[in-house]
Parts: sequence; structure tokens; C-alpha cells
Amino acid sequence: MELTKEAITEVGEMKRQHYAMIINGERVESSSGNTFDTLNPAKGETLATVAKANEEDAEKAVQAARNAFDNGKWRKYPVGKRARVMNKIADIMRSRFKELVEMEVLNSGKSVGAATVQINQSIEDFEFYAGAIVGHRGEVNNMPHGFFNYTHKEPLGVCAQIIPWNYPMMMAAWKIAPAIAAGCSVIIKPASLTPITAIILNEICHEAGVPEGVVNTVPGSGAVVGDYLVQHEDVNKVAFTGSTPTGKDIMEKASQTLKRLTLELGGKSPNIVFEDADMEAAVAGSLFGIFFNTGQSCEARSRMFVHESIYDEFMEKFIEKTEKLVSGDPMDKGTHLGSIISKDQLEIIDGYVQSAVQDGAKIATGGKQIYPEGHEEGHWYAPTVITDVTPDMKAVQEEIFGPVVVVEKFTDEKEVIKRANDTKYGLGSAIWTTNQGRATRVAHQIQAGIVMVNSPFSAFPGTPFGGYKQSGFGRELTVETLDLYMEDKSVLSYYGAKPLNPFNV
Ligand code: NAD
Repeated sequence: MELTKEAITEVGEMKRQHYAMIINGERVESSSGNTFDTLNPAKGETLATVAKANEEDAEKAVQAARNAFDNGKWRKYPVGKRARVMNKIADIMRSRFKELVEMEVLNSGKSVGAATVQINQSIEDFEFYAGAIVGHRGEVNNMPHGFFNYTHKEPLGVCAQIIPWNYPMMMAAWKIAPAIAAGCSVIIKPASLTPITAIILNEICHEAGVPEGVVNTVPGSGAVVGDYLVQHEDVNKVAFTGSTPTGKDIMEKASQTLKRLTLELGGKSPNIVFEDADMEAAVAGSLFGIFFNTGQSCEARSRMFVHESIYDEFMEKFIEKTEKLVSGDPMDKGTHLGSIISKDQLEIIDGYVQSAVQDGAKIATGGKQIYPEGHEEGHWYAPTVITDVTPDMKAVQEEIFGPVVVVEKFTDEKEVIKRANDTKYGLGSAIWTTNQGRATRVAHQIQAGIVMVNSPFSAFPGTPFGGYKQSGFGRELTVETLDLYMEDKSVLSYYGAKPLNPFNV
């Protein structure tokens, strides 16, 4: 079905039972005719069916994106015109804000509070890059007399953008906005668990005036569709957000065609509470740092280090507040924690908690599956605090990706920096202290792409977001991200009056 205005209006209220993929500006079904069910994990119910792309469909999406890039008008638009369309995307999203939030909640099980923040940020991403691209330009470089050289910034081409389930629309926005601002064409491969809002965002892009083929969405298996895109010769870049093992696999395969790569991977971020911290702020911020989005955040502050001199007081308050957190109807504004994304993920989380217990750790609170009223068939886990851990435990070293924090005591600054850095990951980190010198000193020694100082929040449009070590590379959400979707071409010319004859023949 073509994305006519009528079709878009007709689906305005989004309560569809089936979602097609989007290729070349049209809603299309899989060439195999296959579909898959996408669920509401808070209730364990089927929410809708979705067209299941296969390699043939992925190929069509690549050809559409390639054609739009090579022969289309989007990248030739004056940047002001591209910016206007992107602002229109933001306007349409804002006018449909409530529906978008609701769909994000239904498909991911997250709380309405978390979804509200994330949809809002998704809108701001388009506005941010609409502004950023207008001022983004190459340079005139210093040259010897007679020579003129400038850097011409050109869009990279076709970008495969593979995203996870934990922030379905926000990850789509983080990927699409800088790429299309730069003039690229994209193919979004959403996570199979949460494909709906990425599909809707693609439709909104068309409604706002993005030409056909510039944004395409192919829901389907990562191992089939994702893998096909990663290996395709006509794809110039892969921007991937997901787990570290998948990121490694993608990096290896993308190397065969030397694709440009951005990898936003897993984390096991430290949260350090010094003895001079503002106690109330540290408790509240640490609580948000781990339990926001039900702990299903790549930058979740899941390893907490608390100074021994305040440990008892801090932990008493932290556990008391953890037990006050509400898990329940995700649409209820009073809910703090939504559901876990799937039964498999629930089992993974519980497996880590049980392994910690077997390794000798103690569960201070939580540590079990829960069944909120009216959501008994969904996938829920109590916010969990684990103490008496040692650095070698699996639950301390590996990403759990759920509402589980492990807590350790420390004695001094030097020691805690060493312990905080004792991980293969390097995405987020947080420091709670009222000593400005210490804050800067520690921030500069932590091996992580993001350091939050007395802040529960990790990012706003404009702040670089990305990892050190095995948390990946490349920064998103910032002006420099545009360069990750562009090539710098050096244009060098000679303007001297006398012809040059360097071989002197
Ligand atoms: P995942 O790696 O299992 O899947 C991510 C995406 O990759 C999905 O769309 C999946 O279908 C696709 N995929 C899977 N195998 C593939 C393959 N072989 N080739 C190509 N694509 C493939 O991750 P997930 O479970 O969906 O998401 C959770 C992970 O994402 C966590 O590790 C989390 O830390 C990470 N994450 C990181 C950031 C960040 O900015 N660093 C943000 C959000 C989530």
C-alpha cells in the first residue's frame, strides 16, 4: 500500500493489528508472506502482527535506499530545506505525542514516565540535527601560495541502522536524525521484540516530506536481515546499538567490505558514592541510575561503590526507597518500574541473581519474579539490591540488563577508581561528591565515555554518547555524529598564473 495522505490519516490513531514494513515509501508485506507476533510484555499478550522481512526484502530495501541516494533529490536539497522537513517530523511527532507514548508503553512494557522522556527526546533529536546540519560545513585549509584547498563534506551513502529493544523509538531517532540530516539514506532494522514505533516513525518521515527510499524499515531476524545488511556491498555504513557479542560479530563481518561503523554496545557502569556526597541527592540519583527503564539501559549504573564510612546510613536509605518503588500498570503515572521485555530476559536476570547467591552474595531486597495485579501473565522482576559481592562474581562482571544492582564498599579514592575501571566495559559512570576537585580528578581517570557528576541524567541532545573499551566506539547525539555519516573530501586546486611542470620535462 502506498503511503498516501489518506492511508496515513487512517492509521493516525495507530491501533492497528498489523504493521507492514516500509520500503521505498510504501507499506509492503514480506515477499514470503510471513509475519511475526509482537507482544505487550507487561501482560504477555499479542499486540499486533508484523511483516517479517527476509533476505529478499532486505535486498529490496538496499536497492531502494541506494537508488534514493544515487539518483534522488534528498541529499541535493539545500540544508535549510532538509532542516525544514526534519522540523516537520518533530512537529508531527509532537502532535501525536500521546499516541506515540502509548504505543511505546504497549510494545515495550516500560512505564509511561520513561516512555514520555524517551519520546520527548526523540522529537528533540530531529530538532537538534535540523539545527546542527545548517551550521555544519567543511573548512578552507592552510596551503602553500598558489594552492587552494577545502574540505567538502559529503554524505556517506546507504546506512544500515540496527537497533535494540530497550529504547525502541529513541534509538531509531538517534540513528535516523543525524543520518538523514547528513543526506544519507537509511535502512532501519528494529529489534523483533519492539518494531512498532520505528515503523510509525518511518511513516511520519514520509508524511513530513522525506522522499521515498530515504528511510526504509525492515523488521525481522537479526541473524537474517541484520546479517544480510551488514555484509551487503551496497551498504556504506552500519550503525549498531546492541549487545557487545553482536557488535563484535558485526565488526568482523563489516570488515570484509570495510564499512564505516558505529558501535554502541553494552555496559556495566560504576556509581561511586563518596563520603562527602550530598546523601539525599546521592540516594535519589543512584536509585534512578539503576532502576530507570527497569534497569534495561545500556548506561544503567549497575555497580555501586559506597564509601565505608557512610555505607550503613546510605544503604538503609537506598533499600528503604527501593522498596517504595512501584512496579505495576505501565500506563499509571505513579508507576516507577515497568515490565521486563520478555520471558527469556526475565530468566537471564534471575539466573544472574541466583548465581550471585550461589557465589556467596546476599540479597538485601528483591531477588524474585513478581506478579502485579492485572498483569500476572506478564514478565516482572522486583527491583533488586545485592550486597556482599566480590569483584570476580559473574553478576559483578557481566551486564545483567535488568533491575539489579550489586553493591561494594570502598575505602579510598585511588582504590575505587581502580575497582571502577576493573571491567571490560566503559560506557557510563556516576560520581557523587561535593568536592569539586575530587569530581574532576575522578572523572578524568574513569575509563568511560560518560561521567555523570551529581547528575541522575546521562544525556541530552548535544551531549556525546558512546563508549570506551568493549562498550564500542563512535559518539551519538552530538554535532560530531554528523561526521560519522559523512566523508571529508579534500578538493585541492592550483591557481597560479604560471603552469606547473613538476617532472620538468
Ligand atoms: P542484541 O545485540 O541482541 O540485538 C540488537 C539488534 O541487533 C537487534 O535488532 C537484533 O535483531 C540485531 N542482531 C542480532 N544479531 C545480529 C547479527 N548477527 N547481525 C546483525 N544484527 C543482529 O541486543 P538487544 O538484546 O536487542 O539489546 C540489548 C543490548 O543493547 C544491551 O547489551 C545494551 O547494553 C545494548 N544497548 C546499548 C546502547 C548504547 O548506546 N551503548 C543503548 C541501548 C542498548
